[in-house]
Amino acid sequence: MTRVALIAHDEKKADLVEFAQDHEPQLQEYELIATGTTGKRLLEETDLDVERKESGPLGGDLMIGSEVAEGRLDGIVFLRDPLRAQPHEPDISALLRICDVHDTALATNLESAEFLIEGLQE
Ligand code: PGA
Repeated sequence: MTRVALIAHDEKKADLVEFAQDHEPQLQEYELIATGTTGKRLLEETDLDVERKESGPLGGDLMIGSEVAEGRLDGIVFLRDPLRAQPHEPDISALLRICDVHDTALATNLESAEFLIEGLQE
């Protein structure tokens, strides 16, 4: 089954929840994982089934990165806050890097997230 990770920084969580609500039928076709707080919001505010990892600052990004390294993930939607540095920036860079190493689809804004979700359906 296609496996997709959803992550959003605090300023972007509302956008990601809205995106997930708008694409619920499509996302229901995928196995979903998310960082802790993002996952909690998705579980509360959508009907999607989401496996929650640790919160980003506690290692959630690295846990998702390890799935990329194991070849378990098909794509990641990661809505980052471009205006504020995050305390766990090294972990975020590591996740982006491992996606490039393994040529794993990664969308960091809503427009590319649309393409990713559509593209994975094929
Ligand atoms: P969160 O983590 O969903 O637990 O807030 C996301 C992140 O900060 O990378």
